[in-house]
Amino acid sequence: MMNRENKPFIVIGGGIGGLATALGIAETKQYVKVLEQAPEFGEIGAGIQLAANATNVLQRLGVMDKINEIAVFPKRLVLMDAFSGKELSALDLGDVYKERYGAPYVVLHRSDLHKVLAEACESNPFIELVTNQTIIEAEESDGEVTVIASDGSHHSGTAIIGADGLWSNARKLFVEDQPVCSQYVAYRGAIPMEEVTSHGDLDDVYMWIGPNLHLVQYPVRRGELYNQVVVFKSSEYTKENEHTIHWGTPEEMDRIFAGTCELVQNAISFIQRQRRWPMYDRLPIDNWTKGRITLMGDAAHPMLQYLAQGACQALEDAAYLTDMLHKHGQDIEQAFVEYQKERIPRTANVQNSARMWGEIIHNTTDAGILLRDTILLSRTDKDFQFIDEFHGYNKKARESII
Ligand SMILES: Cc1cc2nc3c(=O)[nH]c(=O)nc-3n(C[C@H](O)[C@H](O)[C@H](O)COP(=O)(O)OP(=O)(O)OC[C@H]3O[C@@H](n4cnc5c(N)ncnc54)[C@H](O)[C@@H]3O)c2cc1C
Repeated sequence: MMNRENKPFIVIGGGIGGLATALGIAETKQYVKVLEQAPEFGEIGAGIQLAANATNVLQRLGVMDKINEIAVFPKRLVLMDAFSGKELSALDLGDVYKERYGAPYVVLHRSDLHKVLAEACESNPFIELVTNQTIIEAEESDGEVTVIASDGSHHSGTAIIGADGLWSNARKLFVEDQPVCSQYVAYRGAIPMEEVTSHGDLDDVYMWIGPNLHLVQYPVRRGELYNQVVVFKSSEYTKENEHTIHWGTPEEMDRIFAGTCELVQNAISFIQRQRRWPMYDRLPIDNWTKGRITLMGDAAHPMLQYLAQGACQALEDAAYLTDMLHKHGQDIEQAFVEYQKERIPRTANVQNSARMWGEIIHNTTDAGILLRDTILLSRTDKDFQFIDEFHGYNKKARESII
């Protein structure tokens, strides 16, 4: 049973990464406090894709049965040309995929995933979830750590994990960098399945690509909702207007998608226009650990979403950190050092690859598009060479540790 006299691990931020980390730490039978800035734990109303490197972790955290009840298991991931409407390539996500990576590929609603993780935390006697705590300072002295919230509350603990996302305060302890604006924006949301005009198999994940734009579509919540993400590069972006809403507007979206095929244009007509997400990442850093303080998830390695790996990497972090805590027992400093030794090169590679994949799918030159499409059209749907290093990670990593 938990000994509350032991100071807790403090996780700053209760997103997907923070909650998974709390479940991992609790697995080592240590007390965890998750401090979340929002008035309640939750996620936005859009979908998320989780590859096997993530579902492997969810299996390990004991929440996969619940995920199975609400997720969709797509049969294929299909790349389409957004202008010609032709299929360029596909990846088999069925049994072959599952056998290869030891876990399935799932798509689901973010709030469903978050709810499953939050409920698992709530029912775990080692975990305490606290809301309305915007952490503005964190420090370590004499083997104890303290965080201070904007309302003046202090929380002391044995170690800190900064899981506070892209705009992380905890990251400022290590580096003074800023998120890098990609000049792309996303509009996203899930609509009732009845509103969808049929194209192909609605169980599949579709990615429609074209110069400076793409559209992703897949079902969520047992197939009751259809998630759509529209992404494009704004020519109205300037450094000066970066933090305003005057670039990447819905009107620009309509102009940019004007020449796309009918199915893509139809999808655009259903996209919600009230909220837009400017797309940011940051450059990889070579240290995010100091004594008993470390980072994870987007706080450590925010990436562009083009490989659908941001949350997957956060889940990998949570699992690897847990493994290191198991391995090193009370030597938390050593656990954190070994955690980042593995995770920094791994996540830097995924961050860089996500940028590169963005350049490939958004290519604007005739020669680049011809080369890309020739390669894509020549592969079979059982050719996994492009994704092995991303989706196959957990299995390999865990086999080498345990
Ligand atoms: C359009 C889009 C599509 C994406 N699609 C996918 C996908 O299909 N698959 C995938 O794997 N990834 C995807 N991602 C990436 C994924 O969403 C993120 O990588 C993931 O959510 C990161 O989780 P996190 O817990 O590290 O950070 P976050 O989800 O950002 O959570 C951070 C939490 O910390 C809280 N917080 C922030 N500051 C403080 C503070 N000072 N004090 C206390 N709490 C604080 C926040 O409120 C939040 O709850 C996508 C991203 C985008 C933008």
